[in-house]
Amino acid sequence: TTPVPSVFRLAAIPGDGVGAEVVAAGREVLDALAAGSGGRFAFDWEEFDWGCDHHARTGRMMAEDGLERLRGFDAIYFGAVGWPTVPDHVSLWGLRLRICQSFDQWANVRPVHFLPGVRGPLRNADEHDLDWVVVRENSEGEYAGLGGRNLAARGRGGEVAVQSALFTEVGCERIIRFAFDLARTRTRRKVSSVTKSNALQYGMVLWDDVFRRVAADYPDVETESVLVDAMAARFVLRPQDLSVVVASNLNADILSDLGSALAGSLGLAASANLNPERRFPSMFEPVHGSAPDIAGRGLANPIGAIGSAALMLDHLGLPEEAARLHQAIHTTTRAGILPHDLGGTATTRATTQAVITALT
Ligand code: ATP
Ligand code: MG
Repeated sequence: TTPVPSVFRLAAIPGDGVGAEVVAAGREVLDALAAGSGGRFAFDWEEFDWGCDHHARTGRMMAEDGLERLRGFDAIYFGAVGWPTVPDHVSLWGLRLRICQSFDQWANVRPVHFLPGVRGPLRNADEHDLDWVVVRENSEGEYAGLGGRNLAARGRGGEVAVQSALFTEVGCERIIRFAFDLARTRTRRKVSSVTKSNALQYGMVLWDDVFRRVAADYPDVETESVLVDAMAARFVLRPQDLSVVVASNLNADILSDLGSALAGSLGLAASANLNPERRFPSMFEPVHGSAPDIAGRGLANPIGAIGSAALMLDHLGLPEEAARLHQAIHTTTRAGILPHDLGGTATTRATTQAVITALT
């Protein structure tokens, strides 16, 4: 008898610019995996055409009942959001951050590692020197959306804006514990906590206090606390010393772009926005944005999006398929099939086809 397949319901939100190109690539790879699964699993996709074009038509980045429609899916596969026609803070808050916050996706996981055949900008680093996961607090911190304009008296000869960061003990503790649990699954059991607690004396000192307290529960894990400016330098100068790096929303956002550039390109970086309690769907997306400068030309690097698909497979309970997909990405880059951001000539299509061929 043939087994009854597990059918995963997936929402695709291609979004803007190259988002659509790389989501199409990732879907093709996932569908090839399902087709080769011998009927063990299948993906049931629904696509949502939200983004800046939707905003031009309707005045909203997503449908009014969009969150309700997404709620029942097993996962969300997201491209990118943002286009010069809509202010960045409007497009970001209207779609991506809205989903992250509404579905309590408080852990953003961003692995960074060298791929064979890819030369990064670090002259002296070899393949094994870059293998980290940046764990980003994804629900509060500097992106809590607290503040306003014109709050204060106009006494300074112009408008005044206040932007506050929110740090809660519960929020700090859950992301720090998440980082420690992740470190226990890795060869190198180490967590580096990043703040700027010398200058930001309330929220980030709270973070440091919680980090010290939680660390006591994980005596088997090596720890350190590093200021973000020093950590930026460390990323470049001593990358081999890092394993799991945990930081607030803004700091981790910046550090993970730096990390992916060191690994070769922003186009390589994958990420998962997780609701670890699984009360809501989690969302998987490449780290890069909509890249208006190369959009529509078939040039985008799909590896960040395909790597994000691998993170999604892991989350869906298909770790062997996730590992096969990572292997297929390695086979592709090792063979020198590289998109233009990595100094190669392979189109989005050719890179995607090479990954699919390596899978089978
Ligand atoms: P966001 O604010 O959404 O993070 P951004 O404005 O910071 O976006 P991106 O859209 O990510 O920036 O683009 C930054 C640079 O990286 C651009 O030059 C872009 O062409 C390049 N880039 C981004 N993604 C890719 C990709 N998948 N393949 C090739 N190049 C890319
Ligand atoms: Mg950016």
